[in-house]
Amino acid sequence: MSKTGLDLSACQLADAIRDGELRAADVCGTFLEHIREQDPKLQAFVTVLEDDAMRQAESVDRDHSHAGAALLRGVPIALKDNLCTRGVPTTCSSKILEGFVPPYDATVVARLRGVTPFLGKTNLDEFAMGSSTENSALFETRNPHDPGCVPGGSSGGSAAAVASGMAPLALGSDTGGSIRQPAAFCGVVGLKPTYGRVSRYGLIAFASSLDQIGPFARTAEDAALLLDAIAGPDPRDATCLATAAPSCRAALSKPFEKLRVGLPREYFQEGLSAPVAQALAATRQSLQDLGCSMVDVSLPHTDYAVPTYYILAPAEASSNLARYDGVQYGLRAPAGNLIEQYLNTRSAGFGREVKRRIMLGTYALSSGYYDAYYLKALKVRRLIHDDFSKAFAQADVLLTPTTPTAAFRFGEKVSDPLQMYLSDIFTISANLAGLPALSFPCGMDGHLPIGAQLIGPALSEARLLRIVHEYQKDTNWHLRRPQSILRSPQKRKRTPGEAG
Ligand code: GLN
Repeated sequence: MSKTGLDLSACQLADAIRDGELRAADVCGTFLEHIREQDPKLQAFVTVLEDDAMRQAESVDRDHSHAGAALLRGVPIALKDNLCTRGVPTTCSSKILEGFVPPYDATVVARLRGVTPFLGKTNLDEFAMGSSTENSALFETRNPHDPGCVPGGSSGGSAAAVASGMAPLALGSDTGGSIRQPAAFCGVVGLKPTYGRVSRYGLIAFASSLDQIGPFARTAEDAALLLDAIAGPDPRDATCLATAAPSCRAALSKPFEKLRVGLPREYFQEGLSAPVAQALAATRQSLQDLGCSMVDVSLPHTDYAVPTYYILAPAEASSNLARYDGVQYGLRAPAGNLIEQYLNTRSAGFGREVKRRIMLGTYALSSGYYDAYYLKALKVRRLIHDDFSKAFAQADVLLTPTTPTAAFRFGEKVSDPLQMYLSDIFTISANLAGLPALSFPCGMDGHLPIGAQLIGPALSEARLLRIVHEYQKDTNWHLRRPQSILRSPQKRKRTPGEAG
């Protein structure tokens, strides 16, 4: 076993720490050292919590009273910087939250505190709005497989941290694909749980009816371990399901059921790059080799998913972001009176994409347009949901590509919002329908990873993870490390006028 632990999975690290083969402090120190080396090139972290993380790891080593209680004890983690973390600046990668230090932990953070040392907070598209992390108001995060390419988004920092080995695990949030799309671009596993499986308390809200927190990991088993640690009822979030979450990790050791895998024909049409189509065909074959049968299914309202999402998500965002007015916390721009303070603060504090969404959402909710846009979108959302219910009468899970192409280059889509929005074409429907969906590495396009997506019925996380766990026993796409983390310029701040 390696002395450092950098090449071990989270499950292996947890076992080694529990058995006393590794000290949590040594493991944590190793990851922090790796962050010091790699992060100036990748820029995945907004804040690195060197001292805090070491203190937490040392307390894990000292206190053996919880041994066995928490399966993840001592395994360090990175947290997306839209998760409130007590005493630690939480920026949402926005200027408007300047100086904001939450006095409380998000529920997911509270559940991990004292168990998993927090390595730091990771970069994201401002308020989680974007698909490339280029909308961060702070700096760009690079793809560990090619620093000229985006890591995806909005949880680009978390995906890059896990892919580059700077963290064995990370948390992200997914409103329309923000865990799965960066997981695909960076070659790691990313899971969006069923809406309501994980508490959203303390997650800075983007679109409350779509947002879910979920794990990034290198293996399905590691993702299961992390999901088990964060899932389950929470009286602080009224939308969190009251039913206890069964252990996904335990489900991984049950015999593999031969399942019916549905292939939605609308996800295999034009726009799919040849390498992605080939990788998906090979994945289909691997699942057949495991004994699964394939069925053709249809999700006829798929074309409406992106337009529906871009009415509903901005509508909810325009309401959620009304609270940033410079009065209670965050940025306050100089002004002569209260109205001027609102205007100046919001003009200076929000980036271009966030302003665009606030305007789109306010428009869709305004009187005269509400019925034509917002209400109509809610009705289409129901049709999309019903498409899935019908498909799940024929199939146990659905297999699709996560994205139409592998990672794109910086600047390629940033000036064309519609092109950027279309990169979520395969991920958005699962959010609209509230379903669990998992992206896992399934091939390469040259040196860039390709992701496949499994979508399941509500609360089928264990089934999705079980399939990928079995797949990962026979394949090694998840073991591909970035070939080169190239020498590149040091951390770069944004200059005024740049996108974001
Ligand atoms: N890329 C999508 C958007 O820009 C989804 C983002 C997310 O899931 N947070 O809204």
